[in-house]
Amino acid sequence: MTFHKVLVANRGEIARRILRTCRAMGLETVAICSEADLRAPHVLEADEAVCIGPPPAAESYLRGARIIEAALATGAGAIHPGYGFLSENEAFARAVGDAGLVFVGPTPDAIARMGSKIAAKRLMAEHGVPIVPGYDGRDGQDDAAFLGAVTAMGPGAFPLLIKASAGGGGKGMRIVRRLEDLSAALQAGRREALASFGDDALLVEKYIENPRHIEVQILGDARGNVVHLFERECSIQRRHQKILEEAPSPGVDAALRERLGAAAVAAGKAIGYRSAGTVEFVVDGDLKGIHFLEVNTRLQVEHPVTELVTGHDLVRLQLEIAMGRPLPFTQADLRIQGHAIEARLYAEDPDQDFLPQTGRLVAFDFPEVEGLRLDAGVRAGDEVSIHYDPMLAKVIAWGSDRAEANRRLLAALRGALVHGVTTNLRFLRAVLGHPAWQSGALSTHFIAEHKHALVGLTVDPRRAVRIATVARALTIDAARALLPDLPLGWRNSRFADPEERWLAGDTLIACGHRALGQGRFLTRIAGDDVVVEVLHQSAGPTNELVLKLGDAICRARIVVAGETTYVHLAGDDFRLDLVPRFASGERKVDSGTCQAPMPGKVIAVRVVPGQAVEANQPLVVLEAMKMEHTLEAPAAGTVAEVLVAPGDVVQGGQDLVILK
Ligand code: ADP
Ligand code: ADP
Ligand code: MG
Repeated sequence: MTFHKVLVANRGEIARRILRTCRAMGLETVAICSEADLRAPHVLEADEAVCIGPPPAAESYLRGARIIEAALATGAGAIHPGYGFLSENEAFARAVGDAGLVFVGPTPDAIARMGSKIAAKRLMAEHGVPIVPGYDGRDGQDDAAFLGAVTAMGPGAFPLLIKASAGGGGKGMRIVRRLEDLSAALQAGRREALASFGDDALLVEKYIENPRHIEVQILGDARGNVVHLFERECSIQRRHQKILEEAPSPGVDAALRERLGAAAVAAGKAIGYRSAGTVEFVVDGDLKGIHFLEVNTRLQVEHPVTELVTGHDLVRLQLEIAMGRPLPFTQADLRIQGHAIEARLYAEDPDQDFLPQTGRLVAFDFPEVEGLRLDAGVRAGDEVSIHYDPMLAKVIAWGSDRAEANRRLLAALRGALVHGVTTNLRFLRAVLGHPAWQSGALSTHFIAEHKHALVGLTVDPRRAVRIATVARALTIDAARALLPDLPLGWRNSRFADPEERWLAGDTLIACGHRALGQGRFLTRIAGDDVVVEVLHQSAGPTNELVLKLGDAICRARIVVAGETTYVHLAGDDFRLDLVPRFASGERKVDSGTCQAPMPGKVIAVRVVPGQAVEANQPLVVLEAMKMEHTLEAPAAGTVAEVLVAPGDVVQGGQDLVILK
């Protein structure tokens, strides 16, 4: 059972995180990568790496047989699957064992039993773990059986939640509020479950209104010992997927902690659980009832918050357990110290319903903050492609209490420089600054409830425009110093001050400027004059300027990428696009065309040529970055042309359906 070399069958931040612990334990490491990831950080950080496949890149990390071959060829004795990909794949875990290698995770049997939400719930109910009431397909999977079971649940059955038994990642869940909507929802649910998970079995559960998502970290060894490492709260979710997680939960007291821990350990013992796992619960808003949801038989994305409050390295424990060692502690040895909060930084646009984003990161830099841990999968210069999950990094802060952890995390996010790709950074800052979050009054509907305070935020860009204008004037001056031949009368007009025109979102702002000497500039926006004085300028790619504007002294970080200038100022970011001097500055959007908002694959086309459509009627379903996106008609009209068919791979901005 012992091994000296570990192959990490994953990519991104989790591959890097596992490599870190392997190195600390003196274990040799092998990374795998797709053709798209040849220069990825996890590849460079391993002792050796094997390219396991050509595009389509996403599938590369799912090529189990090829990965096992790579482990055998490099002499690795164990495979750590990370999360996602093959981590909860029974057949892969079994094949790893059959090849004489150690799978760092639970037994194939435990994975199989927990891979089905239906089977998991049945087993838990038998072991006295409280579950959400509902119907698990016991009397069949046909509509009639569901209808019968739901009717038998009585008028209190609604709202209901339909889930895919094999589901994960928040995908394929549907809320049903009326009996007459059930059949249609079941049909849609089956189609999506089959497409996403290759299994169309569904279950329905009573939809718990305003619940909290609280989960318990468990650890089991090969000798049958199971302990829990307390809870994590992950109630801040969008699309049933977590964005902020913390340990401990601000809503859990000692008595509830005891109940959750006992239920989780009972769940772990029921399956003879080995390795690290997570038992998920939904908890009633009044914090009384707890209901088992599922067991995730792997290392969880949000494991760092548990590590920071317990002081234990979960990857090290997984590796030691895989080597056959017993747990080095008992339940009584475990304590919570302080508080930790994790924020998931995603390439997505909160203002467009969290639509995933792609592009090249022109800056990626975090400040040094006490108690901060950064688990990142990317570096400045990296391309964020459509192939993988849009999570860029996890930013985690520890503090002696929740308020301190929150302040530190907020400081890190306010000081972070992430440009080139739209992210949820501003959204995360807004959540952490929100009084409801700070008071710990959480529910899984938090984002929906507080949406107006969290998305579509606009901050007056005029100071940033003045700064960008001065920064540009400084660069032009510097360039002129290097090019003494440049004619002095290079400006448009000798009489008027030069002007830069910037697009800040949809707003066009013109800023006139005049050098006054000694680093002082007069800036003018709509007749409003402000003198900007450059007190300090540091070179480097994240050009920092210390400026005096009126009597305020501020520090700005400027990143220029082509015609775009990013200004980081006072914990906020501004993207300013230079408008060519003689262009109109208006972008024409044809309202009669439905375009792909991002590159992806067409899953379904919902309309045919000649069909009349209403505004917001679904036209095309696109899959990109592990999510389905329904594209709707921008306005009522008639379908003139359908330009794509299911299975087509489309580019961002490509026309899909023409309306007239
Ligand atoms: P849950 O499954 O309950 O949402 P997590 O919050 O731990 O649990 O999310 C894990 C999810 O992360 C997986 O289900 C998968 O969709 C996604 N994922 C898979 N691989 C990766 C990866 N390499 N990087 C980021 N996310 C991934
Ligand atoms: P997945 O495998 O996709 O993670 P889960 O069953 O763990 O699916 O549910 C994901 C999220 O959906 C939960 O964190 C919770 O926010 C919500 N959810 C799941 N089941 C219920 C329920 N019965 N009532 C209310 N919300 C639920
Ligand atoms: Mg879950």
